Amino acid sequence: MRSIGRDPIFIERAAGAEITDVDGNVYVDYVCSWGPLIHGHAHPAVLEAIGAAAALGTTFGAATAGEVELAELVAQRMPAVDMLRMTSSGTEAAMSAIRVARAATGRDKLLKFAGAYHGHVDGLLAEAGSGLATQGIPSSPGVPAAATAATVVVPWNDPEAVRAAFAEHGPELAAVLCEPYPANMGLVPPHAGFLELLRELCTGAGALLVFDEVITGFRVSRGGAQELSGVLPDLTVMGKVIGGGLPAAAYGGPLELMELVAPAGSVYQAGTLSGNPLAVAAGRTALELLGEQAYLALSDTTLALAEGLREAAGSRPVQVSHTTGLVTVFFSEEPVHDYAGAAACDTEGYGAWCRALLARGVYPPPSQFEAWFPSLAHTPEHLARTFEAAAAAFDEVS
Ligand code: PMP
Repeated sequence: MRSIGRDPIFIERAAGAEITDVDGNVYVDYVCSWGPLIHGHAHPAVLEAIGAAAALGTTFGAATAGEVELAELVAQRMPAVDMLRMTSSGTEAAMSAIRVARAATGRDKLLKFAGAYHGHVDGLLAEAGSGLATQGIPSSPGVPAAATAATVVVPWNDPEAVRAAFAEHGPELAAVLCEPYPANMGLVPPHAGFLELLRELCTGAGALLVFDEVITGFRVSRGGAQELSGVLPDLTVMGKVIGGGLPAAAYGGPLELMELVAPAGSVYQAGTLSGNPLAVAAGRTALELLGEQAYLALSDTTLALAEGLREAAGSRPVQVSHTTGLVTVFFSEEPVHDYAGAAACDTEGYGAWCRALLARGVYPPPSQFEAWFPSLAHTPEHLARTFEAAAAAFDEVS
């Protein structure tokens, strides 16, 4: 909120697509907790599942059947996941997937993309997106130089830069880590053939391809970006939707990689509350509600949102990017293909437009470097309210 020049908003409660602040203002919410709430806030079935699980005890530090059932639901959906390990946050899942990749390859170096965010793992806080991009923090104080020394950063959607990085570092790379549809520099989908190129170069160099599907998993399609693109990673990082609004995340892949993790193997990773029964119950319910129809509906809502925002912008220098469940409104004359393009946007203009939207009861992500998260709870009526507010907000800031 500071980055768009206003005070923070304190939330009192939320239901469906609407969120209410402590002053009683009601907003159509497009942040939806930054992605977990694909069914909207306080979905009755999710709340019931959490209540039923809580009545049996909140945590045991031992295995439950629910974890296995959640893992099965994930494996049925994600083409590249046969076995998984749960964590409590996406940050931990990304950190642990990297550990497995390094152990499996016996190599240290990682390649990541400028403007991508994979949680606040020391080694990945290099030209990171999300909050770091919003606040203009190129690399965080407190991260030792040695922690990022093994991280190679290249521009997204730039085949030549990736080829050059492989020519220089290929034999030393443990993994290429990417958000297959990056959404932490705003949504910047991959160009045709780009994910295929990453797959080909990784296979050729003996490096693992790791898809961070914390945002895209169970959102852009039933089986995430890997199903949508048909490009299969070696390891997959998941979060947000998998926890149904409670703290849960996971990383997974084929047995030969996941059995490296202790106690089956010797790559150590643990978590007191990982696989927490309440989070597992919420996640299972959220996934069970996500059938084919849900994705058709989310796709329709997303398309309508993107088109309506484009129409509201009229001839102004605004680019709206979208894929199922994700939208970004870039204040840019040119389409945005990478982090440099996102960083060149008129962030002050975007901030002023956000303030004008908030004043009209619409809650957009208060940063140019984040995505809007339409949910299954957003109705045509919510969209109509949004478009009216968006047009008036554009008029106000023009
Ligand atoms: N990866 C991606 C792609 C993310 O968007 C995020 C969080 N926004 C993370 C990892 C980190 O997840 P968490 O905040 O749960 O640690």
